[in-house]
Parts: sequence; structure tokens; C-alpha cells
Amino acid sequence: MDDKKVRVRYAPSPTGFLHIGNAQSALFNYLFARHFNGTMVLRIEDTDTKRNVKDGEESQRENLHWLGIDWDEGPNKPNPKYAPYRQSERNKKGIYHKYIQELLDKGLAYKDYSTEEELAEMRERQRANNEAPHYDGRWYGKSKEEQKAAEAKGLKPTIRFHLPKDHEYEWNDIARGHVSFNSDNLGGDFIIEKSDGMPTYNFAVVVDDHTMDITHVLRGADHISNTPKQIAIYEALGWEHPTFCHIPLIFNPKTRKKLSKRDKDTLQFISEYKKHGYLHEAIFNFIAFLGWSPVGEREIYSKDELIKVYDPKRMSKAPAYFDQKKLDWMNAQYIKSMSVEELTDRTMELVKEGETEEAKRLQSIPEEQLKNLIMKTIHVHQRDVNKLLEVIEYVWSYYNVLDENFNYDLIKDNEDFNNDDVLAVLTGLKEKLENGADDYSQAIKEVGKATGVKGRGLYFPLNLAFTGSTSAPQIYEIMDIYSRDTDIELLDRMIKALQA
Ligand code: GLU
Repeated sequence: MDDKKVRVRYAPSPTGFLHIGNAQSALFNYLFARHFNGTMVLRIEDTDTKRNVKDGEESQRENLHWLGIDWDEGPNKPNPKYAPYRQSERNKKGIYHKYIQELLDKGLAYKDYSTEEELAEMRERQRANNEAPHYDGRWYGKSKEEQKAAEAKGLKPTIRFHLPKDHEYEWNDIARGHVSFNSDNLGGDFIIEKSDGMPTYNFAVVVDDHTMDITHVLRGADHISNTPKQIAIYEALGWEHPTFCHIPLIFNPKTRKKLSKRDKDTLQFISEYKKHGYLHEAIFNFIAFLGWSPVGEREIYSKDELIKVYDPKRMSKAPAYFDQKKLDWMNAQYIKSMSVEELTDRTMELVKEGETEEAKRLQSIPEEQLKNLIMKTIHVHQRDVNKLLEVIEYVWSYYNVLDENFNYDLIKDNEDFNNDDVLAVLTGLKEKLENGADDYSQAIKEVGKATGVKGRGLYFPLNLAFTGSTSAPQIYEIMDIYSRDTDIELLDRMIKALQA
């Protein structure tokens, strides 16, 4: 790394909520900044006013926080040297127009009074001639008189950047190596200021990255074709461009295309992972491996470890396939390694937030009882759940166990089991509970001894009695989730069903 102090930025457009693709850009910028002891900047690119959504910026901020990504400068943490951090506010201060004017004065940009209809007709003609769509430069070099005549008609111009002919724009990309584009293949002179006075993305981003002293631009590979246009502007303004790194896009393994918001089978917004009970540590770890990997086979890394081992040279060029199984596996690893107390707190948090139907319905359970239920459920299921939403679902089914109608036919019509033995086990355990036994594991063992029934003969009926399923985790732990009265009632129901 060169001596210049590293400054990177994550620059979302608040046109939607924090998506896994955005989070991936934010995360690599974050790792880069923290690894090199640099500065992480949050800049809001809100010039596309029609596409901005309400709460878009807020969603970015909240979900980044949840992921554990913070920044040193941004709208809520301004450094006076660089503020403001929203492009709409920067535009009001005339930051962009000043440079637009400079390009106009130098003859490197010009006003284009073409109407929408004219442009559409131009594109249509190009399509008919099998030409790649491009602006044909019709307003380049027009006289002041021609411009005045257009103004007199009430036309509002856009401002276009004039691209030199047959010029190579090239750079050394951290992830992609040498990349180059010829100016003749960039779609012609492009708009840098819209007719409403707003700069376009390709212009504003250059002015901002330069005036904010950004040293490295890490962003999604979908921006590669914008980079030559931006380099053209750096050159025209006599500025050095930052080092670029185009982060691999996330692909859907089923479609083998870029993950799309239409791919309904994949969770894609960070808020969705959160509400399904993925742990932020696991999501952070998972995303860090989308387009990058450390040396070796190990896959579980804490945030601090990732900051330490992060090496931008290991950014990949190939697309990153989204692997749901791996995400679930990773989340399960984090769940296994966390304390029951911590998992209980996080599950309680999900219930309080009530962002899913499953979580919301638990709000009807009194808090102390709920906490206790969650804790015991986690104790039983920590080893077998992939996400906390599953804990929430278990809690609800345990809480409502008496409303269920278990099907005891599985055992009634099963030749492997002797009805008398089963009844002896069930009544034996019921008696022990009625007599106050509180070590359930011990009680089951004693019943086994007293009845001479063991192994599957003992546990299969008990699993069925307490969970309605024949395979269950440690049954004495499940018994401990319910109240004693519920345990007795469940045994009683099965006894009656077998006696009928
Ligand atoms: N606002 C752009 C986006 O959300 C940022 C691209 C860049 O980092 O230059 O895609």
C-alpha cells in the first residue's frame, strides 16, 4: 500500500433497502479501511430523486450497524473538511456545477438541447441499422446562436461530456487486473448534468471521490463499464484517479445469473436475514467470503480476524455464487458456539421487534415465562437449529402443546411395541410426576428399570407422548420445558388413547 492515508467510501443510493449486494460493497470497504488503519466514509448518492425511497437511507444505516459495519465520516459524523455527505446537499452548495462550468469553459462539455422524441428517434434508427446505441454528438460544436434559438423555444439543455476519439481508458484493477476500454465504445458523449440541474452519477462520483480524497474505490463489478467514463472526467479535470477494485457480483446458482430481486427463493435484504434469526456475526462472515477468501480451508472467522487477515490481492475475479446451505451451516456454527444466555437475549429481541408473524405471536406470552421457555428451548435445540426463527417456532409449539392432537396410531398399530409395556411406562412415569419427581432423566430410568422396558421401547412412546413425533431430542429436557401439569396431561392423553 502506498503512503497516502487510506480513505475509502461506501456510497449507496437510497433507492431501496440494504441488499446483500450493497452490504458486500460496504463490508469490503470496511475491511479495507480497518485493515489499513484508514478512514471509512459513508456517502449518500441521492441525486436520482425519482428513485429514492422513503427510509432508504435509514435502512442502510440501521442494517449496516446491525452487521457491525461502522464508518468514521458520514452525514451523521461530518468532518468539516469534507462535509456534506449527501449528494443532494453537495449539489445545493454548487460543488458539482463549478466543475461542470470548468468543462464547459474548456470546451470539454457542451449543452445538448435534443428533445426526448429526437433521442428516441435516434436510438430507433441506430437499432434499425444494427448499430450499438450511442449519442451521435449532434449538439457538439453548435454555435451560441443555435443554443439561443433552442432556449427561445423553451428547451432545457442537458450537459454532455465530450469524449475524445479513439482514446484508451485503462486501469489496474485490484480484483480484475488490467482493464481497458476504448472511448469509441462508450456510447458516445454522455450526460453529466441533467436538465433539472442535477449531476449524473458518473460525474458526481468523480467530483466526490476527488474532493473527499478517496484513495481506493471498491464497488460492485456492475460499475466496470462506468469506470472508463469516470476516468475520462478525471483526465479532463487534470486529476489522478483513485485505485479501483470491482467486487465480484453475487450470482444465483440456479439461474447462473446475477442475483435478482425477483429471485424470490433467496433472502436478499439484510433486514430479512435479521428477522429470520441469522446472527450478524454469521452474515458478516458469510458475506466476507462472497468474492474473497483467506489462505487455507478455514471458513469461520470473527470480524476482528477478518480485519486482520484481509488481503485485497485475494479479491476474486469470478462471480460469487450464493450458497444457502453454506449460510445455514455457518449460522448453525455460530449458534452452537454462543452461550444460551446470549441466544436467549437475541431471541427475546426478535420477539420484541415482532417482524415476523411467528415472532409477533409470542408477544402474547408473559415476559418472564417467555424468557424461561426460550432459554429451555435453546438448551434443547441449540445443536439442531440453523436460525433463531426455528427456536421461535419451537417455543410456540411447546407453549401450545395442549392444543395439538397427537396421532398415537403410530404406536397403537405397531407390532414392534407391546401395548401393555407402553402403558406400564406411561402410567409409571405419570405416577412419578404426580408424586413430585423432579429429576426427569432419573425418573425415566427408574421407570425403565421397574417395567423392564428399555431402549427404543422406552423412548419411542415417550417421544410420541411429549412431542407427537417419534424422534425427538433428549426427552427429559422437553419435559422440563412444559409445566408438570402439562407433562401429566400429555401422558394421560396417550394412556387414554391406548386404552380406548
Ligand atoms: N451509488 C452507487 C451505487 O449504489 C455507488 C457506486 C460507486 O460506489 O461508485 O451503486
